[in-house]
Amino acid sequence: MTAQALQQRDLAVVIGLEVHVQLETDTKIFCGCSTEPADDEEPNTRTCPVCLGLPGALPVLNEAAVEAAVKVGKALDADIAAETRFHRKNYYYPDLPKNFQITQYDAPICADGTLSVSVEGDRREIGIGRAHLEEDPGSLQHEGGNIETADYTLVDYNRAGTPLMEIVTDPDFRGPGEVRAFLAKLEEVLEYLGVFDASRDGSLRIDANISLVPEDEMDDGDADEATLAAANRTEVKNISSHKGAEQALAYEVTRQKNAIERGREVEQETRHWDESRGITVSMRSKEEEKDYRYFREADLPPLQVADWTERIPIPELPDARRERFREAYGLDAESASKLTSTKEVADFFEDVADRFDADLAATWVADDLLGELNYRDMRMTDVEGRLDEFARLIELVDADEITEKNAREVVLRTMLDEGLDPDAVVDREGLGKAGDDAVATAVAEAIEENPEAVEDYHAGEGGALNFLVGQVMSKTGGSADPGTVNGLLRDRLDD
Ligand code: ADP
Ligand code: ZN
Ligand code: MG
Repeated sequence: MTAQALQQRDLAVVIGLEVHVQLETDTKIFCGCSTEPADDEEPNTRTCPVCLGLPGALPVLNEAAVEAAVKVGKALDADIAAETRFHRKNYYYPDLPKNFQITQYDAPICADGTLSVSVEGDRREIGIGRAHLEEDPGSLQHEGGNIETADYTLVDYNRAGTPLMEIVTDPDFRGPGEVRAFLAKLEEVLEYLGVFDASRDGSLRIDANISLVPEDEMDDGDADEATLAAANRTEVKNISSHKGAEQALAYEVTRQKNAIERGREVEQETRHWDESRGITVSMRSKEEEKDYRYFREADLPPLQVADWTERIPIPELPDARRERFREAYGLDAESASKLTSTKEVADFFEDVADRFDADLAATWVADDLLGELNYRDMRMTDVEGRLDEFARLIELVDADEITEKNAREVVLRTMLDEGLDPDAVVDREGLGKAGDDAVATAVAEAIEENPEAVEDYHAGEGGALNFLVGQVMSKTGGSADPGTVNGLLRDRLDD
């Protein structure tokens, strides 16, 4: 359609994503090199002839990467291929030592999936056209500037061969906000599966395709193939966060709208998201498939994976778990959502809710523990080894051995700040609730030592009782429950 023809019409936003996620495996996808960078590792040390692409080196497929891909396929409700194959995608770039990338082409491991996302209260089903396995290239370091201004460029193959899964969505997004919600949901699901680590640098990389199509050619919110094919779209690369995706796409919507309003055509091209400047810039005209001269990777035999789906279990996924938590533990939507935000949080909640009391567990995990962790910029995984200690704290509250206030304001905070276990904090700070005998003795003493206050109490002076409560509290070092003390005093005084 010409720019002039588009100019007159209402436009709808159409977006489709190609999301690259790093699969968490111990070793690379086609060799035995570790995927875990050492703290201060030197470039090109975590390599071998296979991931350096040396002549004669042969790839061997990592079973763990295939298992992770099958899990992703199951979670996305996708078809798992009966037979999956690998292809060579040929292009020359210094980060790709073989001059081709091993990826998948006509027989991806997963196809035809879906992920349901909630966007401002609405359920949206986003189609997943395909999801395939591939290897990551190495990384380039431009010294003294960016790709255009650098004095020279260094290449590091430590990352080369890291297993990636490329998840390609259908063009089902109608705005940047939906994209952000989808990415959050996708990460949540991948983390539940235990195949992905969102905190790892560069573990999520997004290419976003976006076009504007005439609103009246959308059929019930969906565009037909011909309309999609006719629309000039841009592919925005170099996006590495949810927020970046939303910003880059919002920028692109405005840029394309402005072009059309001025009667100019939107170029079909690849653009680069410049995060620091908050703009997209033109990179090059988009490559076409034929540029890559795909052909079969003869060094890797086809793999039958359909029957793997049965022997590879996946855990209960966040949506299902949220529903079950609401029903089984009587949680409101907000608590259920917080308590299923990660698998670690949900597992811990369920453990303490079953052992002690569900309401107490919900308050302590959703509000107190997550609140204090959040305040310290920590996640549940940062305290993974200490879950028993937090369970013990909840047990102390459940058994009425310390007051909720002390548990919250002293014990929990000291546990996090000083690494002490709860019993050690209770001992050190003398927070154990005074036993019944000790409280009764303190009540008796307070009455005996303060005849004037007793007289005032009987004369109906309001402050007298408070004064006596204060005396008992100080005798018990603050460890008595003020309400109980109040009741005991009244009983004795009114006798
Ligand atoms: P290509 O062969 O150019 O890579 P694909 O059909 O593989 O195209 O689609 C790549 C991505 O582009 C997918 O995520 C798809 O949803 C998206 N896409 C396709 N058509 C459009 C369009 N008109 N506007 C926005 N995104 C689109
Ligand atoms: Zn290697
Ligand atoms: Mg494509």
